[in-house]
Amino acid sequence: RRERLAAERHLPARTADGHRVTLRANVATPGEVRSALQAGADGVGLLRTELPFLDAPQWPTRAQHAAALRPVLAALAGQHVTVRTLDFADDKLPPFLAGDRPPGARLGRGLPLMLARPDAFAEQFAALLAAGAGDGLRIMIPMVADVGEVRACRALLEQAAAELGVPAPPLGIMIELPEAVGRIGALAREAAFLSLGTNDLTSRVLGLDRRDPAAGPARTAHPAVLRAVAGVVAAARSHHLPLSVCGDAAAHPLVLPLLLGLGCDTLSVAPAALDEVRAAVRRLDHAACRAVAADALVLETEEEVHHLVGRRLPAPP
Ligand code: PEP
Ligand code: MG
Repeated sequence: RRERLAAERHLPARTADGHRVTLRANVATPGEVRSALQAGADGVGLLRTELPFLDAPQWPTRAQHAAALRPVLAALAGQHVTVRTLDFADDKLPPFLAGDRPPGARLGRGLPLMLARPDAFAEQFAALLAAGAGDGLRIMIPMVADVGEVRACRALLEQAAAELGVPAPPLGIMIELPEAVGRIGALAREAAFLSLGTNDLTSRVLGLDRRDPAAGPARTAHPAVLRAVAGVVAAARSHHLPLSVCGDAAAHPLVLPLLLGLGCDTLSVAPAALDEVRAAVRRLDHAACRAVAADALVLETEEEVHHLVGRRLPAPP
């Protein structure tokens, strides 16, 4: 089956009724970039940059960022690439951040710590701007909660660009906190693009710890999460912003049709999931996905949504 799917890599990611979907990849290493491009990804929708620094004794320097970025961006020359700035969190906590926290205290998210160290943040922006990657480079801020954070990030990026004498690339934000969904109109005015992080968004909307196995991608089918997604799609449309989904739910066979039906047309998934997602998109009918998603929005439980999808859409092969 894997071989059969791999043989279909040249086929477009288009639904049975002709709706075009853009498939990108979530990566962190040059090896993942190679797998993604081999599997026909249209570039990278999420480059996670914190992973090389999980054992770092202090904030990474510009040279350390550059060394980590170089091989990944080199493998992506000429391709679309959305690089996410450092996203330290409780499940990705380097010793220099873990060190002075009171026992048991949760970090929640790393962005406020990053903004409290603008010198460290500027080092990453400078490394990214110097690495370039041509016209396809975009920069994305994770775990944004409010407009002030976006403005502060943009000021740092623009200052770094001015110092290097290069143009600042588009600055987008991840929507993965209920706080961001609640302020989506104001955030959309500040951002060049939006990317839905369904891993964090799902766990936060449902009050789960994302490390809990019960917080898996199937739970994005909860109507409360779907309503959050629908609000973000509407804001992206009214502000004419590109929107992608980069959480694992995009590769979940029951959730994928709901995301497509809600109007998400650009998906970024793990390289290993690309073949399956393309095949699933090609079997689905976009009009049917839209009808099912509209009905799912007014349900109350995830079980009802799973049942609805199972009844109205073809079972995944
Ligand atoms: C997400 O939260 O959905 C996401 C894509 O980012 P990460 O899994 O790296 O937190
Ligand atoms: Mg996240």
